[in-house]
Amino acid sequence: MNIETEENNSKSNRKTTRNDSDLREDLDSETYRITQLRGTEAAFTGEYLDLKEEGTYRCSICGAALFSSDNKYDSGSGWPSFYAPLGEGNVGENVDHSLGMVRTEVVCSACDSHLGHVFPDGPPETGLRYCINSASLKFEKVDD
Ligand SMILES: [Zn+2]
Repeated sequence: MNIETEENNSKSNRKTTRNDSDLREDLDSETYRITQLRGTEAAFTGEYLDLKEEGTYRCSICGAALFSSDNKYDSGSGWPSFYAPLGEGNVGENVDHSLGMVRTEVVCSACDSHLGHVFPDGPPETGLRYCINSASLKFEKVDD
């Protein structure tokens, strides 16, 4: 009896984590750690930190357009920084109590991947600093 119940439980568990194990296979471990386990890449290491080309920064997991090079600026923080998302509703926000701080986590609205955090110390345009991991983004250059 008990065994049967456990089997059913593990079956339903497997269903809900199926997506996760697919991602774990498809992604390199650093991208998986950052986007799925809310990790942070080391400061000044991300591939998009100093990128100044014009284009769109998409979600590295689902491809949703999240940020534009128009809103990117050099914050000096060590991570790609934007003062606004590409459009309202492209990114979602969650309160994050980890590391003994209260921060606002930024996620992809489409697939819920972790992107980074937003801080209230941005430039005058919005006063916001979206501090985003390069591993959470995939840059698409503007073709003209
Ligand atoms: Zn996404």
